[in-house]
Amino acid sequence: MERRKRRGIRRIGKNGIILCALTCFVIVGTVFCMAANGMENRIGVAAARHFVSVESKRAQVMRNFTQKVVNRWRKDAFSVRPGRATGTTEPKDGEKVVYLTFDDGPSENTKKVLDILEQYNAKATFFITGANEECRPYIREAYNAGHTIGLHTYTHNYSEVYASEKAYFEDLERVGKVAEEQIGYVPRFIRFPGGSSNMVSAKYNKGIMTKLVGEVQKRGYQYYDWNLDSGDGAGHGVEAIRSDSMTDRMNQVMILFHDLQTKDATVEALPAVLKYYQDLGYKFKAIDTAGYVCHHSVKN
Ligand SMILES: [Zn+2]
Repeated sequence: MERRKRRGIRRIGKNGIILCALTCFVIVGTVFCMAANGMENRIGVAAARHFVSVESKRAQVMRNFTQKVVNRWRKDAFSVRPGRATGTTEPKDGEKVVYLTFDDGPSENTKKVLDILEQYNAKATFFITGANEECRPYIREAYNAGHTIGLHTYTHNYSEVYASEKAYFEDLERVGKVAEEQIGYVPRFIRFPGGSSNMVSAKYNKGIMTKLVGEVQKRGYQYYDWNLDSGDGAGHGVEAIRSDSMTDRMNQVMILFHDLQTKDATVEALPAVLKYYQDLGYKFKAIDTAGYVCHHSVKN
């Protein structure tokens, strides 16, 4: 009996050792596998991160390259050169296009306008002035986002600008230099202060607009008026700007807006205007050398 008990204990002892050894083996194995998996995951995550960063660097390089090519092309096509004809006052195709144009910027509101345009994948045109020096980097930002930069006036002072043809071109050259500093060339697209149909210039120099519309084109510029006034220049509110900026009666719509710190209503009205035209199937285009040219009749 005593001997059988001892044999049993010996057997349990052996089995126990084997069981212990097996348990230890399983635990060690599990821990090892977990550690190996963890390392693998870490290596995997690091590799994925590296891949993403290489890919985003490559995408950035491609974007920069494309931008350089596009900018080189735009510099050649859009810079002012005497004798170049630009655009057409009578577009032949029935394509529905909206040209959003912003005068008087850059301003503290330019960035907000650019963000809204980006949301709707819309391109626009900015006719700049020499004011707001601290906002000038927005000119480059707008240009690099695919918008067109045009010239409005340096001083926007009618009595100075329209004092004589010489005074007009001196002012235009000054604002041309501002554009050149930001985008690398003097653009050929211009908008007269008050438009070509303004009647204020006659107060300072009767008949000057008739001379200027011919002379700017001789010097290689093209001037753009508008066929729809948003009314923001007259200080209208958001609702009025929205409704005045909407039409379905024209295929080529050139809308006059203003980009100024005081024109928050324009910024507020803009999304609804963009949605309206988007829903009607219009494209938003920046002014270019082939597109629609809107001219008013000169009244001086
Ligand atoms: Zn203006």
